Amino acid sequence: MINATREDNIRRIISMEDRALKCYRCPELQRCVRKPNLGKGDLEPEAVFVFESANNFNEDIDNLLQLRKNISTAYGINKIYHTFLVRCQPKACPAITNLSCYGEDAKLIDKDYKCILTNSLCDGVPIRPTDTQIVSCLSYTIEEIAILNPNYIFLFGERVGDFLLKSWGVFADKEVPYILQYEDNNIFVVDYEEKFDESYCNEVKALLKS
Ligand code: SF4
Ligand code: SF4
Repeated sequence: MINATREDNIRRIISMEDRALKCYRCPELQRCVRKPNLGKGDLEPEAVFVFESANNFNEDIDNLLQLRKNISTAYGINKIYHTFLVRCQPKACPAITNLSCYGEDAKLIDKDYKCILTNSLCDGVPIRPTDTQIVSCLSYTIEEIAILNPNYIFLFGERVGDFLLKSWGVFADKEVPYILQYEDNNIFVVDYEEKFDESYCNEVKALLKS
């Protein structure tokens, strides 16, 4: 990983996001999202959080702020960026039964987030992505982390840890939570974000001393 200025980071992140916004690797996901979820936060971050995909928990700004506060307090980290392993949010939905008259790849959600099948706001339920969807989207996250090159990387969920660590050639095979070093980065592989309250944060911090 290389050191770069904030301007370099902005330019390279925008280039990566442009490609993600035009990406058609997962048509089954794209038909029910307006656009991929892009990373947000400080572009010279001390820490990058990686969530598996957008969900009801991490889309709630209060939950996100509390999570950032817990980690800022525990580790003295203030500059934080968060992103997703799979950018187009997978959803479960009974409305997707017969798409023959629309075509399998047709966009089902309009600019106002209304479903063209039900004529009401999309009420698909966020679900976890498949392994295939993770593999399809993985390159964007690897590129994003390489650009931002943070000191701390928090991988939320065993699958996030598993896929990213293997992509870096690291085979940890440990029970979460655990911490390891990769190049100059401290990598925290922890449970899903829903579990990361103050007490869990302290439990993970204690691993640093053990
Ligand atoms: S409500 Fe419509 S747009 Fe939303 S997930 Fe279901 S089929 Fe897709
Ligand atoms: S989930 Fe990722 S790989 Fe799949 S279409 Fe969206 S941006 Fe592309």
